[in-house]
Amino acid sequence: MAALGPVEVHQVIAPAALGDEKVVALTLDACSGGFDAELIHFLIAHRVPATVFATKKWLDRNPAGVAALKEHSDLFEIEDHGANHVPPVIGAGRSVFGIPGNPDFAHLEREVLDGANAVAMVTGEAPHWYRGATAEYDPAAIKVIQAMGYQIAGFSVNADAGATLPRAAIVARLNQVRSGDIIIAHMNKPASDTAEGLSEGVQRLLAHGFRFVRLDQTHVRAVR
Ligand SMILES: [Zn+2]
Repeated sequence: MAALGPVEVHQVIAPAALGDEKVVALTLDACSGGFDAELIHFLIAHRVPATVFATKKWLDRNPAGVAALKEHSDLFEIEDHGANHVPPVIGAGRSVFGIPGNPDFAHLEREVLDGANAVAMVTGEAPHWYRGATAEYDPAAIKVIQAMGYQIAGFSVNADAGATLPRAAIVARLNQVRSGDIIIAHMNKPASDTAEGLSEGVQRLLAHGFRFVRLDQTHVRAVR
């Protein structure tokens, strides 16, 4: 079999779920690291819902973050980002952005399941969505994750490039958002510009009449 590189899953909100409204979904990854309280407090203050993809690692290390999300469960849905932030690529020596993948499918299943159990421990509900670490997948890994009963959560607008972009660049990317877009950003790097950039960009989207939805409130479809 020819070796194929990992793929990034791109999705938008399904047109049928949009109606006549301008709708956008914000997804926030909590990979490892800390809790961006400034970002979450901004979303709470402006009543902006978001879908959070948290690892077991992050949930274990950030009790204050978990408490803030749970206190506002009307706004925040917590879904599965794996146990230890291992990218969903399979095979000895495989990695994405320097992060080692899974040696075999059993390890992938463990990563997905242990992440799901950690989310369920915190929320009392089994997650339905999975986003792999780095959001890059081997096609065979996608099939395994779907067979376990999870929907893969893609995106269409990468707002902060792993919380590495400066404020102005994040705002510029959010200015390009169109109805149906699914935004990915990060809530695990409080020292980054993500909270500042998202605050400005999201306020502008709100001013332009966009309504934010969570993934559990809508349907998605794949795009190229
Ligand atoms: Zn991540």
